[in-house]
Amino acid sequence: MSFASECKRELLKIENRKPCCIRAEHYGLLLFSRCFSPLEAQTVCENGAVARRLAQAAAVSGGVYAEVRTRLGRRSDSSYTITVPGEDARRAMLGAFGHDEMETVLRLRRENLRNECCPASFLRGVFLICGTVTDPNKGYRLEFTTPHGALAEDLAALLTSLPALSVSPSVAKRGSGSVVYLKESAAVEDLLTYIGAVNAAMTAMQIKMYKETYNNLNRVSNFETANLDKTYSASSKQLAAIARIYDTVGIGALPEDLRETAALRLENPEMSLREMSERLSISRSGVNHRIRRILEFAGNLPETGEKP
Ligand SMILES: [Zn+2]
Repeated sequence: MSFASECKRELLKIENRKPCCIRAEHYGLLLFSRCFSPLEAQTVCENGAVARRLAQAAAVSGGVYAEVRTRLGRRSDSSYTITVPGEDARRAMLGAFGHDEMETVLRLRRENLRNECCPASFLRGVFLICGTVTDPNKGYRLEFTTPHGALAEDLAALLTSLPALSVSPSVAKRGSGSVVYLKESAAVEDLLTYIGAVNAAMTAMQIKMYKETYNNLNRVSNFETANLDKTYSASSKQLAAIARIYDTVGIGALPEDLRETAALRLENPEMSLREMSERLSISRSGVNHRIRRILEFAGNLPETGEKP
């Protein structure tokens, strides 16, 4: 089951107790469905429970009968088509929420969200019918889709105006319709929590924390690997130089301090400068200086590997 479906399943379990909130949720479901129109129109929905909830909204708060038909897909995926038959019925449904059949542009009527408690229920209805959310393992995005541009703007304005939420949604055109979307993880979590998908919001937070920890660990280990590689490639250059000295003039040609350093390096190719400085009881810059002299010494040797 997708993360969005999990969210919806959680939201469908919530039972509104207050009449004002029941109506607000029903308004959200209907307004953002495609059947909230005086014209004959249908809403196609993949989630059977949401389809039933929409029909329930039409009956309880719109006072009309909505027909739900199942369309069986080729595999096990069926979808549901919801229509409100009869022009009079559709007019009555619009009227129940203060809308007029003559309206040319569909807008959000805030008077249907009577009390402070209502916007959460309204948004739950909106999310159920036209919302989706990306799996937090893949990214952070929650969006609502509607064919009505002005309605999208109204929804964005409502989201921005709610004191309980601090989100700044964006509105974009998509095809012939509009999308209202949030893309910051905190905003997505806040909205899910606000509309009642508390478990889904927790899951999203946990996944984000896990990803952050994992990324940090990865950064640290990349850093360490990079440093090891640096030590190792520096060390292999030194080993090559020491080998060259052995093969040409012999290690005895080096002064005592450099001989000691070369021997230590030869025995411990992966030893860090710090460890070498401890073993030789000199400073790190001292070790560095000796190594530089060894490299210089080897660099001045003749190209052919014959001892003079
Ligand atoms: Zn309420």
